[in-house]
Amino acid sequence: MHIQAELISIGNELLSGQTLNTHGRDLGTALSTIGLHLSRDTTIGDDIPTIGSAIKEALARVDLVFVSGGLGPTIDDITRDALAELLQRKIILDSATVKKIETSFETKGRKMSLAATRQAQVLEGADVLNNSVGHAPGQRIETDEEKTLFVLPGPPNEFNAILNEEILPGLKLRYSDIKPLVIRFIRTQGIGESDIVTILEKAHFQPPEVDLGFYPGNGRVKIRLSSTADHEDRVLAAVAELRTLLADFIFSE
Ligand code: AMP
Ligand code: MG
Repeated sequence: MHIQAELISIGNELLSGQTLNTHGRDLGTALSTIGLHLSRDTTIGDDIPTIGSAIKEALARVDLVFVSGGLGPTIDDITRDALAELLQRKIILDSATVKKIETSFETKGRKMSLAATRQAQVLEGADVLNNSVGHAPGQRIETDEEKTLFVLPGPPNEFNAILNEEILPGLKLRYSDIKPLVIRFIRTQGIGESDIVTILEKAHFQPPEVDLGFYPGNGRVKIRLSSTADHEDRVLAAVAELRTLLADFIFSE
C-alpha cells in the first residue's frame, strides 16, 4: 500500500517571501517516519476561490490532504469560509475551544474579544484537534468521498504540536501495516555530480526497486538511496556497490 498526502499552505506572506514556508519540510519528515508519502506541497495566497480549487484538486488526487494557515482572528484569515463553501458545511462555534480561549484570556487578566472567538470556529462535523500551544484548534474532516482533510493553524509551533500530538498517532494506528521507507545516505567529497554520474553509468548502476537522489552542495554530493521495507536488501546491495565504485570519494555513510 502506498498512501500519498498533499499539503496546501495558505498565506500571501509565504508567496511574497516575507515568511519561509517550513510546513512542507516538517510534514514530509513526520509522514515519512510512519511510511506515508508527501507527494505535493502547494503554496497559495489568501483568496477564497484559489483555496477552494486547490483543496478540491488535492482531494481528487490523494487520500490525505493537509491545509494550513488562515485560521487566525483577522480579516485575511478566510480558510474556514473557503472550506465551508467547498464542502457545503456550516461554520459553528466549538464550545470547548471558546471556554479554553476564555480561560486563557482570564489568566492574563484580559476579557475575551469577539475577534478571538473566531478562532473557535470550526466546520460542522469536524473532529476538533487540541492545540496545546495556541488558540485555534486543528480539525479533521472526513469527506463524503472517504478522503481525510486536516486543517491546521499557520504558526509552525502550533502546526507541529497538533501534527505530532493529535494527528500522527492516529495515522500510525490507521496505517499500522505500512512500514517506513528504508533510507541510506552516502556522502562524497572531491568529485562533482556529473563525474559521479559518468562512473555510475559506465558501471550500469541501476539498482532495481531503489530510488536514487543526488544532492550537491558545498563541494560535496549527498546520495540518497531508498526503498520500501520489503526491499531493504536491495538498498544494502546498492550501498555496497557504491562503496566500491566511489571508494576514493566517500567520506561518510
Ligand atoms: P495564519 O494562520 O495564516 O494567521 O498565520 C499565522 C502565522 O504563521 C503568521 O506569522 C504566518 O506567517 C505563519 N505561517 C503561516 N503559514 C506558515 C508556513 N507554511 N510556514 C511558516 N510559517 C507560517
Ligand atoms: Mg495567514
